[in-house]
Amino acid sequence: MKSLQACFEANRAWAARMREREPGFFERLLHAQKPELLWIGCSDSRLPPDQVVGRLPGEIFVHRNVANVVVHTDVNCLSVLQYGIEVLGVRHVIVCGHYGCGGVKAAMERTPLGLIDNWLRHIRDVYLVNRVELDAIAGAKAREDRLCELNVAAQVANVCHTTIVQGAWARGQPLTVHGWVYDLSDGLLRDLDLAVDRADQIPPMFRVR
Ligand code: ZN
Repeated sequence: MKSLQACFEANRAWAARMREREPGFFERLLHAQKPELLWIGCSDSRLPPDQVVGRLPGEIFVHRNVANVVVHTDVNCLSVLQYGIEVLGVRHVIVCGHYGCGGVKAAMERTPLGLIDNWLRHIRDVYLVNRVELDAIAGAKAREDRLCELNVAAQVANVCHTTIVQGAWARGQPLTVHGWVYDLSDGLLRDLDLAVDRADQIPPMFRVR
């Protein structure tokens, strides 16, 4: 397993560089983490959150899954949200999708992939809600890109609809939910201007108070 051995070698070199850059770096992180950002992103290997926004260990609390989906009953994602907001006190939740997302593309196709097809049903739900706009777009790539954006918007809404986020707002805790999309072709992030920071920005039927 030569390639895995290389991981350990690279790790030792990285740890040495970090210690050289900031003596006591690991000791500092050992005692506490105080990230400002909570990142909900795609599992895609080409979108490593810390690297694309130039952050160091300890600065971003992360949840990733295929196609950055936030499901109302996903205890995994909800636990990350709850811990990040209530215990760590993050100030921003960022839902970050990306153009060229394999999950979004697969949801638009009819090729069976197995178990994951059930997960991708959530993306198809987003397509169904937006089918008039999407069906009117000429070209599969443009339609796929737009679905990536609409999926981010849907997941931003789902984050805001949780009791966790609304509980933070009710307590007066500053918290903003954002929707971003990353372009694999140039490595740049784009803000979709979906920022939500209070309950009256979401539909009454989803408000818990
Ligand atoms: Zn993806």
